[in-house]
Amino acid sequence: MRISGEPLPGAVILFDGKTKTMKDWHHRDGSPATWPVSDGVVTVGRGDILSNEVFRDAYIHLEFRVPNMPEAKGQAKGNSGVYVQGRYEIQVLDSYGYARPGKGDCGAIYDQFAPLVNACLPPGEWQTYDIIFRAARVNEAGKVIEPARLTVLQNGIVIHNNVIVKGPTGGALDHDVGAPGPLLLQDHGNPVQYRNIWLVHLPLEGSPYYDPR
Ligand code: MG
Repeated sequence: MRISGEPLPGAVILFDGKTKTMKDWHHRDGSPATWPVSDGVVTVGRGDILSNEVFRDAYIHLEFRVPNMPEAKGQAKGNSGVYVQGRYEIQVLDSYGYARPGKGDCGAIYDQFAPLVNACLPPGEWQTYDIIFRAARVNEAGKVIEPARLTVLQNGIVIHNNVIVKGPTGGALDHDVGAPGPLLLQDHGNPVQYRNIWLVHLPLEGSPYYDPR
């Protein structure tokens, strides 16, 4: 398991801050992503953005920083979100210091699973998500035979251990869970920042290989 920020060999770079625009991303209406990029960092702007890259099973790494909004409360305090395949939101929020985070707090799979522990750093500090995603399996009739699963580490700490999601979370792009999907970053009206976003496509089957050496 690699939890430092360096992209793994073979990683698809979704945003490395070396470009002045979010050239590999677009808005929900298909227009080019307009979120501002500066000093290797992108700040949430108007409208959600989606990666052009789509994936099934994947290992995803990204870094985020929530603003310090001491007057704000609850869901208005540094809200954004990372939607895996555009369907399953891992919440981004300032939930620093809460003894028992809930299903709406940072790291939650929104309204389905609270993080196992509060792994949040204070607002203004860079944090990491490392996400191991197993996409839903769908049969030829389109019926879900295995829901999607998520393992998530926040700042290197396991906050979800292979949880079986109940389906797409609110605000999902679609419910076509057998289809590949993008990474989606949510505009919830707060200037959350992101950097160093990449993924590794994972094979859909385990390897059966036995080397008879
Ligand atoms: Mg959110």
